[in-house]
Amino acid sequence: VPTLAIVGRPNVGKSTLVNRIIARREAVVQDIPGVTRDRVSYDALWRGRRFTVVDTGGWEPKVDGLQAAVALQAEYAMKTSDAVLVVVDAMVGATETDEAIARVLRRSKKPVILVANKVDDERAVSDAAQLWNLGLGEPFAVSALHGRGSGDLLDIILDKLPETPEEIWDAVGGPRRVALVGKPNVGKSSLLNKLTGENRAVVDSVAGTTVDPVDSLVDLDNEVWRFVDTAGLRKRVKFSGGMEYYASLRTQGAIESAEVAVVLVDSSEPLSEQDQRVISMVVDSGRAVVIALNKADLVDEERRDQIDKELERDLVRVPWAAVINISAMTGSRVHRLAPALRTALASWDKRIPTGQLNSWLGEVIAANPPPVRGGRQPRVLFATQAANRPPTFVLFTSGFLEAGYRRFLERRLREEFGFEGSPIRINVRVRE
Ligand code: GDP
Repeated sequence: VPTLAIVGRPNVGKSTLVNRIIARREAVVQDIPGVTRDRVSYDALWRGRRFTVVDTGGWEPKVDGLQAAVALQAEYAMKTSDAVLVVVDAMVGATETDEAIARVLRRSKKPVILVANKVDDERAVSDAAQLWNLGLGEPFAVSALHGRGSGDLLDIILDKLPETPEEIWDAVGGPRRVALVGKPNVGKSSLLNKLTGENRAVVDSVAGTTVDPVDSLVDLDNEVWRFVDTAGLRKRVKFSGGMEYYASLRTQGAIESAEVAVVLVDSSEPLSEQDQRVISMVVDSGRAVVIALNKADLVDEERRDQIDKELERDLVRVPWAAVINISAMTGSRVHRLAPALRTALASWDKRIPTGQLNSWLGEVIAANPPPVRGGRQPRVLFATQAANRPPTFVLFTSGFLEAGYRRFLERRLREEFGFEGSPIRINVRVRE
């Protein structure tokens, strides 16, 4: 939960303002003689977002002089919170003590909100404007006592506080969904364990049903990802031999619940037909793909050259796939996974504006017109991107385009706009 620290010299109305922010009267903390109040924090909730308010007012550093004390207080607030709210008494104006606080806060990389308190009526608004001089940006006028401006102030506070991962998920429709697929024993469970073991598993699992949690949320490279359908992987359920049919159903299911699939391949063995089948399943489902060559720790230079040749020969359908070498066992290069996933998803999400697409198309076709068929030269009239996820293009033509020419167009489209890691689809509509 993000934290907002409140600072200011004594008597500017910090406690009253804190009570406005947390909207709870009983939260007033009474000074008890002889008891040194430490910093006090409260939970606040506004527009469905939670944050913690820390009142540093009670925190009294053992130094001589008010200015030194508040400067230390501001320093402390800056270090321990996500945003600092400084309260100044607009009736009094900026005092030397306020200046001392401002000097500290001006160095802050954290957001600072300057509140001019005790603006109880319109006349006081111009007093508040004087506080621009503190160099902390626009003074925000409120009356903590009467509640004036407090709703707007809360909106400003929310604006300055960082969003929590949960809030970001809500905003973007949840974390990106990733499937871990590949034939048995390529290291899917090992990779999942590595990812959840070394990185913070945000929530151990997401309940699909209460009995059998299905997905795993994992924080990789400062982003939360949802690894779908990992129940079997977590439990190391093994499919073998006659179970292949079920393994294949599971794979298809995982791919369809995901946006991007990581296809694991055991690079210590020759690339197999089964590996290719899994890659084809991903491409045919229109999902983005990252190929992870696992067990890199078992691979020497000779084998590495060999696998490069195998990939070139066998991955003709997906020359655009992102390929990374990892070792789920040692963890080597596993950090490359998140950037590869991001690249593939960015391609998968991409939209090319129609104008840009057609000016590119015009040039390509002028230089390489479609081959003549049946004595007629088909003309390509217009292109548009009908969809993304995956990028899907529609070409309007005056006649049939040969498969070879379509592949040529796809290659050029990829060269021009870059769709690494994502399948793209090109549909041709013939207009008579
Ligand atoms: P899954 O069936 O795809 O989930 O594969 P597992 O994760 O169960 O791994 C199968 C076997 O390969 C296990 O014995 C793992 O210890 C081993 N393994 C997985 N990843 C690596 C790796 O990067 N290097 C090595 N040497 N062995 C690995």
